[in-house]
Amino acid sequence: ATSTGKKAHSANYGIELIGAEDGKVVTRFPPEPSGYLHIGHAKAAILNQHIAQMYHGKMIIRFDDTNPSKENLEFQQSIIEDLELLGIKAERTTFSSDYFDTMYDLAEKLISEDKAYADDTPQERMRAERMDGIPSSRRNRPVQESLDIFENEMKNGTEIGLTYCIRAKISPDDPNKALRDPVIYRCNLTPHHRTGTTWKMYPTYDFCVPVVDAIEGVTHALRTIEYRDRNAQYDWMLNALNLRKVHIWDFSRLNFVRTLLSKRKLQWFVNEGLVTGWDDPRFPTVRGVRRRGMTVEGLWAFIIAQGPSKNIINLDWNLIWATNKKVIDPIAPRHVAVAAENPVVVTLAGAPEKPYTEKRPRHKKNPEVGEKDVIFAPSVLIDQADGQSFAEGEEVTLMDWGNVIVNKINKDDRGSVTDIDATLHLDGDFRKTKKKVTWIANTDDVVKADLVDFDLLITKDKLEENDKVEDYLTPQTEFHSSAIADSSVKTLKEGDIIQFERKGYYRLDKAPTATSPAVFFTIPDGKSVQRY
Ligand code: ATP
Ligand code: MG
Ligand code: MG
Repeated sequence: ATSTGKKAHSANYGIELIGAEDGKVVTRFPPEPSGYLHIGHAKAAILNQHIAQMYHGKMIIRFDDTNPSKENLEFQQSIIEDLELLGIKAERTTFSSDYFDTMYDLAEKLISEDKAYADDTPQERMRAERMDGIPSSRRNRPVQESLDIFENEMKNGTEIGLTYCIRAKISPDDPNKALRDPVIYRCNLTPHHRTGTTWKMYPTYDFCVPVVDAIEGVTHALRTIEYRDRNAQYDWMLNALNLRKVHIWDFSRLNFVRTLLSKRKLQWFVNEGLVTGWDDPRFPTVRGVRRRGMTVEGLWAFIIAQGPSKNIINLDWNLIWATNKKVIDPIAPRHVAVAAENPVVVTLAGAPEKPYTEKRPRHKKNPEVGEKDVIFAPSVLIDQADGQSFAEGEEVTLMDWGNVIVNKINKDDRGSVTDIDATLHLDGDFRKTKKKVTWIANTDDVVKADLVDFDLLITKDKLEENDKVEDYLTPQTEFHSSAIADSSVKTLKEGDIIQFERKGYYRLDKAPTATSPAVFFTIPDGKSVQRY
């Protein structure tokens, strides 16, 4: 894990589990391989690991792969990689599909004890009956009939089997609708990415999760609060099958404003070509936020600080980026970039005639960040805005170099500053100047940079159930500006996080080539104004 992660393990942040014995706690993170991990999943994974470690216990990663229509190997592989990157280390990785035989036997047992039945009520009607608390007409059919349907028709995926499902016989009309005879098995002929065509029917989440939790020795199942209504159902399954008790611990779902955290909805953006892929920097996926400049350490710190809160709130992205800034600020190397639009040429009298290079620290307060080569030259470039702010006769400071006296400011007929004549005044006191500006040597040895900023994909803080995503797409979500960066930027590797002084934090997404600029993504610093 990360240093922040490790530190956090010694504190419990108000997390306390009922019935937890030191050394014996087993938690599990159960991703469905139906998409790439998003930041909500990261929260679940981090909390599971954190809590297991708090009690010196273990965590299991379990692929909840019971719906072949949504799942595949690519997603499974990406989840394995992302968890590794997040520093999630499970005691073991398992698969719900490892237990298909066992679950089959257990479902058979439920049916034979008249605790479950085969139902072919059409879906719409079943939904309506459940809403109204009306028992299914199949509810009291003979056990043997249900067993036949399960063992022969459903198991073989016959035409008749496909019209059936198995429902737990809990209650037709309990006030808690989750208890109104939930479906525990249904047919699906789509081949499964691990078990192929061996199975034509699969357990549902409601049946599979409690059963596998109990079998795997999970002591504490962490679930997001929206599942609270289903806790009674979870307990019913364990009791009905005489399985070991598992404690449920609720935590709040992570939600962010103007953000969809659902694999299905993210898949829609991918399919529509509205993003470049699951790792798009506008996406709330683990890969997306990483590409945008979120660090593993920042993510851990943020999630552990959120910890046991059970409030369902729509968080502002600024919160998490502010946490991330605290992580990157002390270690991000400093570089300089000047806006490519109308840079001002400053000619320095008193400077050596030929450019020369000297080492400078890459971070003024942290020597561990190392040094960089800075080119000093008799002509430098500064931002137009800085040039505009100067007055003739004023003494200003060129950062990392020294003071200069501005002699003459030349403008074109539209008022743009074209160039400035100045004199180096290295004896001048930089503490006495008001303006300290960034600059780069005006030589060929510079790096062209494309600075990219992004906006969130949707315009509404929280989409409601009936809102159509199409109606709330942010019209423009990608913003480019060109810059000229100092030559030492050439030493950066893709993925490196830096600060362009006086501009902000950036992550190098693509290194420059002979024909293309370096592509830097703006890393939000927690204060940024939303554009839309
Ligand atoms: P999605 O709708 O995005 O597919 P899911 O819950 O169906 O989410 P799973 O792969 O089944 O996806 O989830 C794995 C674990 O992550 C579950 O324990 C789930 O509760 C948790 N989880 C999913 N979304 C969030 C979230 N926004 N905040 C916290 N935990 C989450
Ligand atoms: Mg799920
Ligand atoms: Mg979901």
